[in-house]
Amino acid sequence: MLNIAIHPVVGSDVTSVTCWCILKPMQMKRSKTGLYFVLALILAIALGWFVFAQQAAAPTKTSTKATTQKTSTTVQKKIEVTLPGASPIEARVEDYHEPTSLWVVVSKTYPLSNDAYRPTDLVLPGIPQRKDKSQDERSVRQVIAPDLVAMVNDAKAQGYDLMVGSGFRSKELQSVYYNSILKASGQAVADKQSALPGKSEHQTGLALDIAYTDMGNCYIEVCFGSTPAGKWIAANSYKYGFIVRYPEDKTEITQYQYEPWHIRYVGKPLAQALHDSGLTLDEARPYLEKARDALLTAHKI
Ligand SMILES: [Zn+2]
Repeated sequence: MLNIAIHPVVGSDVTSVTCWCILKPMQMKRSKTGLYFVLALILAIALGWFVFAQQAAAPTKTSTKATTQKTSTTVQKKIEVTLPGASPIEARVEDYHEPTSLWVVVSKTYPLSNDAYRPTDLVLPGIPQRKDKSQDERSVRQVIAPDLVAMVNDAKAQGYDLMVGSGFRSKELQSVYYNSILKASGQAVADKQSALPGKSEHQTGLALDIAYTDMGNCYIEVCFGSTPAGKWIAANSYKYGFIVRYPEDKTEITQYQYEPWHIRYVGKPLAQALHDSGLTLDEARPYLEKARDALLTAHKI
């Protein structure tokens, strides 16, 4: 207890001693109090640090997860198709076996997975069409219409008036065409010039026969390839996402005669790659299949 005031103070020494004797326990108490204070302070700091560390750890985990997802997405996006002699292109995220895919390969070897397939987005493109054809056959899929219109308009600016000679063909119409050639010229000719129902690109709505509006000018004939418009199509259609599907020097591969009028839409990246590599769609198929396998794993398409 602090009682300096009531103690008799005789001399400075006594006072000094008395005060010392009284103050020492008090100082010890203060010292202990100070120690407790310091310990409490350290504890508080330690506790504070612990809480801070816990809070800091949570966002870090989220961040790591987000980074992982981002990296994963980036890896998925990097699935590419590289054709020999061409720059890599990003793989389309879709099943190329589906008739709806822009990269579907339809041929004598690979028929449509659904032979009754009919696109749901057929439109009449805003360019001339052969007037005596049905609305179906003058149509193409909406997804190809803008590039088709742009190409035909650019051809017109060069002085070539083109039209859709034959666009979408149903399974039934393809059957009529095939049987007509079969009856007139026999199976060998029919197989070379036409496709069986379910094996025609026309049924996808992604292919069409392009021709001069003047049907007297090599309409659906090999000589179309030697006309100015035919040459222009061969040289420029890839810029609009189209390919001449059955080239003159690849008949063994495509199993079709040279058809400079038959163009198929695959989108600009693949059309560019096919142009640069010189491959037909048939030859590109193994490369597309490889990308499809990777996509099936990565995206579970
Ligand atoms: Zn055709």
